[in-house]
Amino acid sequence: MPELPEVETVRAGAEPHLVGRRLREVTLLRPDLRWPIPAAAVQDLTGRRCTAVRRRSKYLLLHFDGPSEPVALVHLGMTGRLLVDVVKPREERPEPRLHEHWRMDFGDRLVRFLDPRRFGALDVGFAAHLAQHPFLAKLGPEPLEPGFDGAFLHRVSRRRKVAVKTLLMDAHVLVGVGNIYASEACWRAQVRPRRAAGSLSHAECAALAEAVRSVLTAAIAAGGTSFRDYVGVAEDAGFFARELAVYERQGEACRRCGGVLRRTTDGGRSTYWCAGCQR
Ligand SMILES: [Zn+2]
Repeated sequence: MPELPEVETVRAGAEPHLVGRRLREVTLLRPDLRWPIPAAAVQDLTGRRCTAVRRRSKYLLLHFDGPSEPVALVHLGMTGRLLVDVVKPREERPEPRLHEHWRMDFGDRLVRFLDPRRFGALDVGFAAHLAQHPFLAKLGPEPLEPGFDGAFLHRVSRRRKVAVKTLLMDAHVLVGVGNIYASEACWRAQVRPRRAAGSLSHAECAALAEAVRSVLTAAIAAGGTSFRDYVGVAEDAGFFARELAVYERQGEACRRCGGVLRRTTDGGRSTYWCAGCQR
């Protein structure tokens, strides 16, 4: 499943292709993904120029011009991919690919959304009210922006019995951190992922916040080098795999202390950690 670095990689890849271009045509190939697609609002984007490609949590935000400044919200779900093809304005468009659910034609760029499992989403909001959009209204802070630090983590973890890793993955607390990067951040901070969040000291919260930022930053840097005019995740999400310290490395030696890496399972979700150097 794409996490924040993968979505940020897609955003950065799509941005130079879309900003400044006018949307010529939208084609919806089905009425819904995870939720119904508002066809009239999506069609109303036609003729507008894309002014920015932003990201909030794991939502891609395609901003368009016009008095109401509409914004297309795109979520990749579990298996979604956004393909950007360079095309000639008057040439015939390719037939829809397998699992292609919508496309946006920008004249000399063709954006296509592919999603076999259809947990993705497409909706339309407006720039002035974006923070109140149902997709975004209850989200916690962005880990890579000011406001997320050790003091914040300390404050939100007081008297919480929930495991540290679960807290990091709670989108109401902090957005964009999934199973892979939560395990990696705990290893970097030398904190056991199943410890009660309320037991974290100020110093440990500071180390964890820094670990979350550093692992996401490193993953984004690795993703940023992996494509050109093709934007894709899920099928080729292995770009950061070499840098993972604990994820899916159970039984291997810890890079830091040489101890054997462990895997535990809670509710079908695996947690990876080192008993030798994580406290
Ligand atoms: Zn270790």
